Amino acid sequence: MTNDTVTLDQLTGWLTRFRDLVTDHVAYLTELDSAIGDADHGSNMTRGMGAVIEKLQASPATAVDELFKGVGMTLVTSVGGASGPLYGTFFLRIGTEAGPVATLDAPGLAAALRAGLGGVVARGKAEAGDKTMFDVLAPALDAFDAALVVSSDISSAARAAHTAAQSGRDATEPLLARKGRASYLGERSIGHIDPGAASTALLFQALSEILDGE
Ligand code: ADP
Ligand code: MG
Repeated sequence: MTNDTVTLDQLTGWLTRFRDLVTDHVAYLTELDSAIGDADHGSNMTRGMGAVIEKLQASPATAVDELFKGVGMTLVTSVGGASGPLYGTFFLRIGTEAGPVATLDAPGLAAALRAGLGGVVARGKAEAGDKTMFDVLAPALDAFDAALVVSSDISSAARAAHTAAQSGRDATEPLLARKGRASYLGERSIGHIDPGAASTALLFQALSEILDGE
């Protein structure tokens, strides 16, 4: 399937698929966070995304900004760990950038995601190689933008972003953590995939699957 635009329904579907993927991978995310954190990343993400989808089912959003601002607020308020404010700010900034529209075209989605990354950086101050979700978000968005230079098809851009996200996730394994709880471990953080990087790879898997109509 090719898409020049993404609809409110597809964006809601993206979030629902992300909820499903973090739920399916809860044990994996917990295991990653037990190695270099406090073993709560799986439960943080499933609780947060569970609350997000419950709210959306009770009262569906009528515009893209409303959708993502609601998601962001729910994550900030329902997740205690670092990932709540970080993912929350990501989605809040996406909503602000998107505005009160019913669809986004490819450049619009790219700009919204880029604004979301800006929010994560504003909050967490992570840089490339710090072993965080940034190490997945940044290369995934670069791949998304690069694909859009070649074609305006959002589905293939999302597939490229997902591939880059997986590489970014795997590339966190040999890194020494410089941000968040894992940084307390120093050298002992080396040799483990970052849990937030792993959940962010699932975020791009969800986007790619929804746009491919799976
Ligand atoms: P906590 O660390 O509070 O237990 P989680 O376990 O839910 O929260 O989330 C941990 C993840 O958050 C890390 O794996 C990392 O990807 C991400 N993270 C932590 N601190 C930062 C930061 N300053 N910037 C970006 N991402 C961060
Ligand atoms: Mg944790």
